[in-house]
Amino acid sequence: MTESLEKVYGYVWDSYSDDSTKESMDFSEGYKDFVSTCKTERECITEFIRIAEEQGFVGLDALLDKGHQVKSGDKIYAVTAQKALVLFVIGREPLENGLRIVGAHVDSPRLDLKQNPLYEDSGLAMLKTHYYGGIKKYQWVTTPLAIHGVVVKKDGTVVNVVIGEEDNDPVVGVSDLLIHLSKDQMDKKMSQAIEGEDLNITVGSIPLGDKEDKDRVKKNILKLLNDKYGITEEDFVSAELEAVPAGKARDYGFDQSMVMAYGHDDRVCAYTAFRAILDVKDPKKTCVALMVDKEEIGSVGATGMTSKFFENAMAEVMNLTGDYSELKLRRCLAKSKMLSADVSAAYDPNFPSVTEAKNSAYLGKGLSFNKYTGVRGKGGSNDANAEFLAEMRELMDKHNVTWQTAELGKVDQGGGGTIAYILAEYGMDVVDCGVPVHNMHAPWEVASKADIYEAMRGYRAFFQDA
Ligand code: MN
Ligand code: MN
Repeated sequence: MTESLEKVYGYVWDSYSDDSTKESMDFSEGYKDFVSTCKTERECITEFIRIAEEQGFVGLDALLDKGHQVKSGDKIYAVTAQKALVLFVIGREPLENGLRIVGAHVDSPRLDLKQNPLYEDSGLAMLKTHYYGGIKKYQWVTTPLAIHGVVVKKDGTVVNVVIGEEDNDPVVGVSDLLIHLSKDQMDKKMSQAIEGEDLNITVGSIPLGDKEDKDRVKKNILKLLNDKYGITEEDFVSAELEAVPAGKARDYGFDQSMVMAYGHDDRVCAYTAFRAILDVKDPKKTCVALMVDKEEIGSVGATGMTSKFFENAMAEVMNLTGDYSELKLRRCLAKSKMLSADVSAAYDPNFPSVTEAKNSAYLGKGLSFNKYTGVRGKGGSNDANAEFLAEMRELMDKHNVTWQTAELGKVDQGGGGTIAYILAEYGMDVVDCGVPVHNMHAPWEVASKADIYEAMRGYRAFFQDA
């Protein structure tokens, strides 16, 4: 390998002084706190808004009410359904000259409760679920789960629910068959060993009331829920309750160099993009951090990237500068540059056959640029322009950000996509770049603290200087 390639494929840790090693470790402590408590898209967006407001960001609706004149240096946020967020730091140049966008998603694979979830079977109260996103179903049994989400009552009251995160909280879970009776199950294909309709969660076993009554265990659970949250069985109809892995993010490895957490995909890129935009000072181009929902199910819906909410918010902001036209908005979007911030697959020595070692991301080797994703012959991929990648190489090197280049896996082994292609429809330059992880979409994913810190530094350099 030539010297310059060694630089591209070197360890982040080798580039760090003792001080930078400590900075990266400290940065991950903040991330661990965030990802330990924010386990739904709503929780992520609510927390981002809380911090953004503390840091001087003002809601777009409030500015519209006041007819505020937007000017350089303004910090603005717009939110949709508490699940998708766009943060703006207005730059010195006119919006027409284009934006610097970093976009990530805040939804993660999980088990959603169905709208009529609660039932009783053989003395146990159970909850029916419908899995969300791409999961290997067998990974979600016999692991402690917590329930996070909201129940919206008919009068519009939103009840926040979190069960299973405090030390003295109960956890819930999905059972699996004992090995002693698994002869038939063990002969099945892995994808069929646990079926979607088998992912039922056990939530109770104490009966309530008269022995002659039916469903007494279910009745007791309903009483507990009513006592604690004031909700009834019918309220499940208008609820969004998600079963997620219970417990906090932990240091991973004897050297504490990595973080094991639920939801790195893609909260690790959302958090680093968020922290990066908080640091932006007086940028030339207007900076935009996008935190979207529904990526794991195809970026659909009003809060997914294919929705018009970002374009609409952009139009409103441009209008508030007093210089709006349809043509200027189109130019603004077409002249923009975007980092599609999403996780990549890190090379796993336990499964070397699915990657091609020379074009794989590695834990601890920095921010991973994926020129293209997609399947088979790059199907569905954004495939960034070489010119844009050259610009990003120059930028990252100038800011001493350690980066690497990768594909998601071996050719024809599978693949995946991100929100990159959706923003590219405006004609802007977009490239995928994010943090490599092990165990993507499993209940507990692993990322390197060095890569997490380099992602934040890379996104910050892009906002400030691209
Ligand atoms: Mn993702
Ligand atoms: Mn994903």
